[in-house]
Amino acid sequence: MGNPFKLGLKDEMPLLSELNEQIALCQQCEIAKSRTMVVPGEGTEDAEIMFIGEAPGWHEDQQGRPFVGSAGKFLDQLLASIDLKRERVYIANVIKCRPQGNRDPLPSEIQNCRSWLEQQIEIINPRMIVTLGRYSMAMFFPGKTISKIHGTAQKRNNIIYYAMYHPAAALHQQNLRQVIEADMLRIPAVLASSKTVPEAEPQPQPQPQPQQLSMFEV
Ligand code: URA
Repeated sequence: MGNPFKLGLKDEMPLLSELNEQIALCQQCEIAKSRTMVVPGEGTEDAEIMFIGEAPGWHEDQQGRPFVGSAGKFLDQLLASIDLKRERVYIANVIKCRPQGNRDPLPSEIQNCRSWLEQQIEIINPRMIVTLGRYSMAMFFPGKTISKIHGTAQKRNNIIYYAMYHPAAALHQQNLRQVIEADMLRIPAVLASSKTVPEAEPQPQPQPQPQQLSMFEV
């Protein structure tokens, strides 16, 4: 006889899969209507490092997977440069649906999607969050400028936050490629010396940037 207390299949689902199923049902923004697929994120629930980009592009919207276009290919190379595969990390975005025409995310979309990202972070509980680009940086390093803080880390609530340019920036500005590569190569050392990473100034909640940002502005 089966165990009468055995939970149903749904209850056995990993928390992250369950959360991502909820994300797939989200209709809070207009862009939910135009999406082909939602792109919650992918990787392992016990990832030590979480990479957070901006928003799905055309390829991601088609496949329901983050960073599978040309920026994603560069991200894979960057991960390989520190001996990481995407299966060992978690890759997500600030917003989970593709803004039409690849426009920048709206503040309202960032705000609506924010709780999904926060729940993902809570479940994964990574040692390190790497922000890719200005939108992601603005959530965790409010008021900072990417040209000043890229390649630097700060700690809050036992998580190391590390800011990088968006991989797509290297596709548009060749001079940023080496900067991005060098910043990625620094990650293992930052993790290894996590005790020396400075604590962030007190900041109860990360705030979204109210104004529109441009991904490539430095
Ligand atoms: N750019 C992003 O920020 N995220 C993706 O998933 C793809 C491209």
